[in-house]
Amino acid sequence: MQTRNFRHTTGARTNFRQNPNRAHQKRAIKQLKHADITRFINKATAPEKVEQFVPTHRFSDFPIENRLKEAIAQKGYREPTPIQDKTIAHILRKSDVVGIANTGTGKTAAFLIPLIHKILTQPRERVLIMVPTRELAGQIAEELHEFAYRLNIHAAVCVGGASMGKQLSQLRNRPQFVIGTPGRLKDLLERRALNLSEFRTAVLDEADRMLDMGFIKDMRRILALLPSPRHTLFFSATFSPEIERLVGEFLHNPIRVSVKTGDTVASIEQDIVRVPLGTSKLIVLQNLLMKPEFSKVLIFGRTKHGVEKLSKILAQKGFRAESIHGNKLQGKRQKALDLFKRAHIQILVATDVAARGLDIDSISHVINYDLPASHEDYIHRIGRTGRAGKKGKALTFIEQT
Ligand code: ADP
Ligand code: MG
Repeated sequence: MQTRNFRHTTGARTNFRQNPNRAHQKRAIKQLKHADITRFINKATAPEKVEQFVPTHRFSDFPIENRLKEAIAQKGYREPTPIQDKTIAHILRKSDVVGIANTGTGKTAAFLIPLIHKILTQPRERVLIMVPTRELAGQIAEELHEFAYRLNIHAAVCVGGASMGKQLSQLRNRPQFVIGTPGRLKDLLERRALNLSEFRTAVLDEADRMLDMGFIKDMRRILALLPSPRHTLFFSATFSPEIERLVGEFLHNPIRVSVKTGDTVASIEQDIVRVPLGTSKLIVLQNLLMKPEFSKVLIFGRTKHGVEKLSKILAQKGFRAESIHGNKLQGKRQKALDLFKRAHIQILVATDVAARGLDIDSISHVINYDLPASHEDYIHRIGRTGRAGKKGKALTFIEQT
């Protein structure tokens, strides 16, 4: 089951998010524009043509507590997805695991299920889950809660922009899971509110994005405080040479499992929208958004300012649109996301902060209004649609020059 040959994506990879280097960025985008347009086009495969996956395990076969099996059944998971099928047994055996699988294929439960079992059988154990964005931390905590609320297993969500007081009091209750972003975790460590010597298990979900965001120093400091040996898991939909270095540094003899079917799942239909010279992108966008099939649309823009402006303009034009980006207060960020999740608004305009890990039901379209900075970013952005076997469409705007 072990796959050692990861697909190394070759997209123009850049590190400009922390230290904006406009020339570099422009170059990367230009490269994407001219060399990789075909990468933005991929007709979804008809479901009958997609080979049916037959798992080798059933949830009932895994050596996990019955209480947990009941919780899985209650959540409506009937059989493991490929990444769950191929990693859960290794994690239960306490191997370090690198799990690479397409977006929307159940990576969260692949690590939560065996780790909940670990806590049930070793109640003194504690688990640290590190993620790049606040919203992803909240989402993983929700999924954990759904599995474990009857099992007396709790989590603290430690993210920036939220009340420190609440997090301090959550931590005082010694929850078995701590889920957080590197910056806030570091702050809590400095205040001595968190003692990482009790955490023998760490999960890095979407860690390559943390690397992009310049969190590598914080991640290193945090992981160095965990006891050794520790049990470390790494999950992502993309794998690049930078990540290989990270894995070499943080994981010990990991079992590598890659169940990717191409760069993206077949359920995402991808196409480009050519914007002719002299035509406004905004008009083209508006015309699309007026079509009834554009029922739940996630639009990606490049800058916080641009995203805010676009969502305001769309709202002025009468669309139900909100925005999410790093310049917005956390409460408002979360509120916009919740409105979108519950389909109370049609459109969410976002920076790449919404590109990682977010599981929003039935997004009909992802639109790259501005080009992504790298091929990895593209994969994660469009991976917000076509999840858990549903179909979705991804459109990328290409301005003719
Ligand atoms: P990933 O992390 O791979 O992008 P998620 O863990 O967010 O994917 O899962 C995507 C969706 O699939 C979620 O809505 C989740 O509830 C659902 N899901 C996960 N595992 C299963 C399963 N075994 N059966 C049915 N649905 C599942
Ligand atoms: Mg995920």
